[in-house]
Amino acid sequence: MNPLRRRSSARPRRGHAGRDDESRLSLDLPAAIRRGQLRLEYQAELDLTTEEVLAVEALVRWDHPELGVLGAGRFIRIAEHNGMIGELGRWALRTACAQLAAWQDATPGLELVLRVNVSPVQLSDRSFPDLVEQTLADTGLAGAALCIEVTEDAEPPDRAGMIDVLRRVRASGVQVALDDFGVGRNSLLRLRELPYDVLKIDRSFVAALGTSPSESAIVASVISLGAALGMDVVAEGIETEQALAELIRLGCRRGQGYLLGEPASAEAMAFVLSARTS
Ligand code: C2E
Ligand code: MG
Ligand code: MG
Repeated sequence: MNPLRRRSSARPRRGHAGRDDESRLSLDLPAAIRRGQLRLEYQAELDLTTEEVLAVEALVRWDHPELGVLGAGRFIRIAEHNGMIGELGRWALRTACAQLAAWQDATPGLELVLRVNVSPVQLSDRSFPDLVEQTLADTGLAGAALCIEVTEDAEPPDRAGMIDVLRRVRASGVQVALDDFGVGRNSLLRLRELPYDVLKIDRSFVAALGTSPSESAIVASVISLGAALGMDVVAEGIETEQALAELIRLGCRRGQGYLLGEPASAEAMAFVLSARTS
């Protein structure tokens, strides 16, 4: 049995923090990074028909000493506002790249793309492409092994600057994904600003697949839009067999979600990767 399919009883707390929690988390975050309370989980992205693992997405968690395990949704916005996102992002990129390098060492022939979420605030830093290059050099990864995921929900402080940064990242062979496609602002406009490599369909569209014809029509059109633009299309948040069957029927090749595998520790993922490639 695929161990990633097991329902974990300890899913992190999701959603946004209340105001009291928020100021508390903002105060606690700098020490949390120093004290090693942050860790990454990894969620597999599969070929929907063969179940081959095509990519792995790194997702940050905070083991808060009093509040328990916090999902990224609880503190990424806070980190963007209190100035900690740069440090958090550098740590996440380095940790994830080092992890992929370790998996590659343990499993020769492993062909896997590592997807790392990056905040628009990080992308307003003109030195971000240098950080990516340096991290690849330090960990010995090829650019093609890395994909930067950009979400649309926050408006970047400097959109033109962000696009320039992403162009430079792409020039080093790294892929760029447009995350949560369909729910952010100006989704279609965003497709014109950069030749994104990957389109991730937001899970809110995937949730009702198989039960609603209009949802199927929307997802079908996004799949063909992505294909026409030469992008890899990934369905996020696949939770039901119905949604999976409908995505396959619509010709979607890639997907991730609790049905296929929950985010899991690096050790659990190593087990899956070695089992899949041996
Ligand atoms: P995302 O990049 O769209 O990541 C997918 C989110 O959906 C993750 O939540 C994942 O745990 C959750 N998920 C996966 N499969 C399913 C499913 O079948 N059903 C449902 N309902 N949810 C599913 P998570 O880890 O709480 O992350 C939330 C968001 O925080 C991410 O959304 C991403 O935008 C951001 N994030 C995560 N890690 C990082 C990071 O290292 N840096 C930055 N800047 N942002 C991050
Ligand atoms: Mg993502
Ligand atoms: Mg997403």
